Amino acid sequence: MKALVKSRAARGLWLEDVPEPQPGINDVKIRVLCTGICGTDLHIYDWNEWAQNTIHVPLVIGHEFAGEVVEVGSNVADLQPGDQVSGEGHVVCGRCRNCLAGRRHLCAHTQGVGVNRAGAFTEYVVLPMMNVWKHPRPIPLDVAAIFDPFGNAVHTALSFPVLGEDVLVTGAGPIGIMAAVVAQFAGARHVVITDINSARLKLAEKAGIPITVDSRTQRVQEIQTMLGMREGFDVGLEMSGAPAAFHEMLANMCHGGKIAILGIPASEIAIDWSRVIFNSLTIKGIYGREMFETWYKMTVMLESGLDISPVISHRFSWRDYEKGFEVMRSGEAGKVILDWRDAV
Ligand code: NAD
Ligand code: ZN
Repeated sequence: MKALVKSRAARGLWLEDVPEPQPGINDVKIRVLCTGICGTDLHIYDWNEWAQNTIHVPLVIGHEFAGEVVEVGSNVADLQPGDQVSGEGHVVCGRCRNCLAGRRHLCAHTQGVGVNRAGAFTEYVVLPMMNVWKHPRPIPLDVAAIFDPFGNAVHTALSFPVLGEDVLVTGAGPIGIMAAVVAQFAGARHVVITDINSARLKLAEKAGIPITVDSRTQRVQEIQTMLGMREGFDVGLEMSGAPAAFHEMLANMCHGGKIAILGIPASEIAIDWSRVIFNSLTIKGIYGREMFETWYKMTVMLESGLDISPVISHRFSWRDYEKGFEVMRSGEAGKVILDWRDAV
């Protein structure tokens, strides 16, 4: 089968023929129909330091995908050929304290699909049945393909109650925008999103976020004044990984404010801890999605009218993957989709 493979320890990705994976008794074999390109895939393509230290070549990459079940192992009872599914990209150990307690998103031995094991930028992927999310009603394929980053957004946005609260989102990448949209959907009063890239801020507006802040020219404090806010934001969602964004967030939180951090900083960040202490801030790191409460919430919010599709800005055939990676690299894109429907 055709696959996008990191076959050499060098910059690039190569379209190659690889053997079709065979499911074990607890596995599900899925025909991949649609995939999303993630920042992680770009790092693997570019072969940055993280990728060099993490990826063992050769590896089929990609973890954001939707597809159709084609075969199930003999222990798999509740999934059938033809089911529309997405994949949870974190394969957990199932045996550590957190896993056994049902806190699988806190497993310390996570294996990443398309990072530590064969990925989804290909015709068929095999996953343990526990990692397969069946869509109870068919949804648009491109939306199903981005359940992984949508899940990051939902996990972060719903980490703290947002009903009636003022929410500050720093970083209007695809995940920041989806988180802002979710916070709004969940009943926040004001949702304010910042970025330093005009294309991203425009995309946020298009997705329905009315208050966007260009951090190059505008201060969040001014927006607070404009909105008549007096005590600061109740909830902060850090989605940029940028030190400057985090500093400005810390300076604009109310006393007792709560911050969920998904954005991954490139290196250590020094912060004013006395502000955290004297303002009684809560800071929570977020990794991945809750298995499978986040998935449930994603599905039912879509059923209740949440629309995340505006965040999808580009669609390419799998054959044109180079174009997809190029547009990702430009920073002008939202989510970029690769369509694999005609690959088989
Ligand atoms: P992205 O890189 O597309 O978006 C980040 C955005 O932050 C960009 O639009 C960038 O212009 C903006 N930004 C940079 N400096 C800024 C500043 N000073 N102020 C405001 N905005 C600024 O990333 P994404 O795909 O949307 O993901 C969001 C973040 O979450 C990334 O850091 C990513 O690495 C991280 N991530 C974490 C997890 C996890 O499990 N913790 C999972 C997926 C992604
Ligand atoms: Zn575990």
